[in-house]
Amino acid sequence: MKLFAIFGDPVHHSRSPLMHNHVFKTLSFKGCYTRVHLKDGTKLKETFLSLGLSGANITVPHKEAAFEACDEIRGFAKKVGVVNTIIKEDGKLIGYNTDADGFIFSIKAFKDIKKVLVIGAGGTAKALSTRFIEEKMDVTILNRSQTRLLSFKKDGFKTQTWEHASIEPYDLIVNTTSAGLEDDNYPAPIEILRPLLQHASYSADAIYGKMTPFLKLSAELDLVSKDGADMLLGQGVLANDYFTQQQYKLEEIERVMRESFYF
Ligand code: NDP
Repeated sequence: MKLFAIFGDPVHHSRSPLMHNHVFKTLSFKGCYTRVHLKDGTKLKETFLSLGLSGANITVPHKEAAFEACDEIRGFAKKVGVVNTIIKEDGKLIGYNTDADGFIFSIKAFKDIKKVLVIGAGGTAKALSTRFIEEKMDVTILNRSQTRLLSFKKDGFKTQTWEHASIEPYDLIVNTTSAGLEDDNYPAPIEILRPLLQHASYSADAIYGKMTPFLKLSAELDLVSKDGADMLLGQGVLANDYFTQQQYKLEEIERVMRESFYF
């Protein structure tokens, strides 16, 4: 039996155990997936090893720490310095990122997305905005404070803090902050957010399982929106493919994992 876990702080809200355990059970894979509440990201590697895990997912706020914890980084994670999936291979921790492709999967119904505003400058923002650039989109990052914007600026992104936010039309506005996850905050002050959403075509929230203030405001303004459920599904399917060592078809994992959303 292989053991897997999700690391985060908070982590109690995570649906990942339900999703992965349902796939393991339905496809008769000998695996079990649990939650680990980790406060200190620098303890990630030793905790992973002491629990005897075969793999893990990493959520807020440890994705950058997860990048540091790995012995080797593969694929898109290398480009963004952010890891959400770890696999143990020959005693080494291998880091991947499945969030960005999961998000692209989730917005496939949104058409003609050329100009995007990403709210937030954490690990998820980094992964999504880098992926958007690969898709040739015009990307601006809006964050409440300057510090995390510096690395985006260095990478050539247009960046704004709340004080210098400019109201422009965007095809898509994405909330990648944790505002609304455990509280009722908007990801940016309402005086900025309302006009931005009024001029946008679509909005999406990375948070899933609840109607966040960001999504409520989007609905009030009749905007076509998505919460983070499909992103969660997309990243989960790709992570499960690593956990189960590519022995099932992605479509099969997706079909079974989707069932767990109706529990
Ligand atoms: P990080 O901790 O790396 O980044 C958090 C960002 O949110 C920072 O830019 C921070 O700003 C900003 N922020 C935090 N609180 C507030 C607030 N009250 N108001 C405005 N801005 C705020 O987080 P992650 O990137 O790892 O995750 C972000 C969110 O995305 C989480 O809610 C997570 O659950 C969700 N997520 C969902 C996924 C899915 O599959 N649906 C996958 C990945 C993430 P500052 O720099 O000023 O501190």
